[in-house]
Amino acid sequence: MKMKSLITAAVALGATTAFAEPEREVSVTRASSQVATAGAPEHFTGSVKVQSRFQASSPARVGGGLVSFEAAARTAWHTHPLGQTLIVTEGSGLVQHWEGDIQEIGPSDVVWIPPGVKHWHGATSEDGMSHIAVAESLDGKTVEWMEHVTDEQYGQNSGGDGE
Ligand code: MN
Repeated sequence: MKMKSLITAAVALGATTAFAEPEREVSVTRASSQVATAGAPEHFTGSVKVQSRFQASSPARVGGGLVSFEAAARTAWHTHPLGQTLIVTEGSGLVQHWEGDIQEIGPSDVVWIPPGVKHWHGATSEDGMSHIAVAESLDGKTVEWMEHVTDEQYGQNSGGDGE
């Protein structure tokens, strides 16, 4: 009896892990079934919307979404364990790594953030910005959040006469 219940438990576990059927069909997540979420205040400054979120299941590890920042909105400082790619889809944005210069980014620009590099990204103070963000997960994590980007740090960009 005891052995039988153990086997039953092992089979039940196996169904979701080792013995899972490989995916064989293309899946489409319809726009109508998706829910846009607001960027959490502990991880973002200003108004940020995330839509078209995706996370592939193992052994794939890619995930991401379309992130839209209103003017002056930005992420907090953070790192990605396996790096991150950003593809700007519209507007005018900024990206900076720790102790680096703030760089302006615009539509169709592609940004690569290497693994473990502390950085932030967001909109300029004048314009909103949207980007597709893609990152691979390591042990189920795609991001390590840190402190907010202060107005002083963000304002480094708006000082001076511009370019
Ligand atoms: Mn990032």
